[in-house]
Amino acid sequence: MWRTPWAPIPEELQRCVECGLCLPHCPTFRLTGSETSSPRGRINVMRAAAAGVVDPAAPVFADIIGFCLQCRACEAACASLMPYGRVIEGARAEMAAARPTPTTWLRRLLLGRWVGRRRLLQAASVGAALLQRVGGGHWLPRRFRPVVAGLRRLPLRPPTSAGCDLPAIGVQVGVAGLLTGCVMDPWFGPVHEATITLLRRAGFRVIAPKGQTCCGAMAAHEGAAAEARKLAARNVVAFAGVDIVVSDAAGCSAHLKEYGHWVDNGGSEFADKARDVTEVVAEAITAGSLPRLPTNGRAVAVQDPCHLRHAQRISDPPRLILEAAGYRVVEIDPDGLCCGAGGAWSLFWPTKSAELGDRKAAQIQGTGLQLVASANPGCEIQLRAHLPHAIRVAHPIELYAEALASVNCLGES
Ligand code: SF4
Ligand code: SF4
Repeated sequence: MWRTPWAPIPEELQRCVECGLCLPHCPTFRLTGSETSSPRGRINVMRAAAAGVVDPAAPVFADIIGFCLQCRACEAACASLMPYGRVIEGARAEMAAARPTPTTWLRRLLLGRWVGRRRLLQAASVGAALLQRVGGGHWLPRRFRPVVAGLRRLPLRPPTSAGCDLPAIGVQVGVAGLLTGCVMDPWFGPVHEATITLLRRAGFRVIAPKGQTCCGAMAAHEGAAAEARKLAARNVVAFAGVDIVVSDAAGCSAHLKEYGHWVDNGGSEFADKARDVTEVVAEAITAGSLPRLPTNGRAVAVQDPCHLRHAQRISDPPRLILEAAGYRVVEIDPDGLCCGAGGAWSLFWPTKSAELGDRKAAQIQGTGLQLVASANPGCEIQLRAHLPHAIRVAHPIELYAEALASVNCLGES
């Protein structure tokens, strides 16, 4: 039986008609060929738990539910509109509540609390930057090494955009609140810079409220539901008064759009204002408030982050942005199969994560290109860890901002 208020509700679980349409889209099913590693298998084990046949404390429940990447490819494929993302988060919350082990406690602490502490993250980032400079990645436990290998070169003094309040360039069309995120600020400063510049250039005053915190996606994915709820509630208050809330990390923007589920008071209104930066910039290009540049004769491979393509059903905007930057866009994977990052999944299933990472890297290398665009930090790290160093991985927004800067087209700063 279920133990928490986050448990999957019967009406949601009953949506699955066991047709199996989702199976070929599921990366863990593709890896194992096992029904228990499929969306249908996982839904059935949740139904068994709801009926009291399987205890969420049982190792079999943790094995089946814990192995899910939460990529939501099954949700996008499902004709019965199964809200898979929500039910798996509920099942993870049950798993964590039923098995309060030291590992569960540590995950809650790391992904539910520490992840929201800006100074702590900055200190950790400085440590990682030092480690990079002394080449000490191999000192870490094996499962952490791909993450360190996939990082950009980190600055010794991590930047922060928290607290920024910058006017629109030209006529103001609205106020955009920027989610600074957990690792986006210290690890992906250039992406934030590009986002701020392009939003301003598109007519938005950009503010990054100091009172904001981590979006809570990692906490929700790891079953730290109470912590996820607290983080979301804090953001709802911090972003009151802005017209749109923008994130340049697909995993975060997907979670912001789910705040109606996490926060009773104001969560739905917040969710309606949440946007991924690729949506906003693509709309500005289409409306003519950001320019399209002529072709630069170069090509870029495009990788679809699951939380952009499957969770938010956004696939055209990154392509439109890259084309507007002058690139020819080359597809690598019509199925949009997960790269194997899955938030913290790669740390818990390193071998399987590497298998998926290698598959994606092979698809990219098959194009012969030296440039790949990805709109999510976790995917970027995973791709870089599995690709040769000569291949650059960048956010589409960064590539577009660089292209505009190269022709002096960014306006005043
Ligand atoms: S989740 Fe949807 S697609 Fe998958 S088996 Fe159930 S009904 Fe079919
Ligand atoms: S979320 Fe991804 S890994 Fe999990 S069942 Fe669905 S398709 Fe498979």
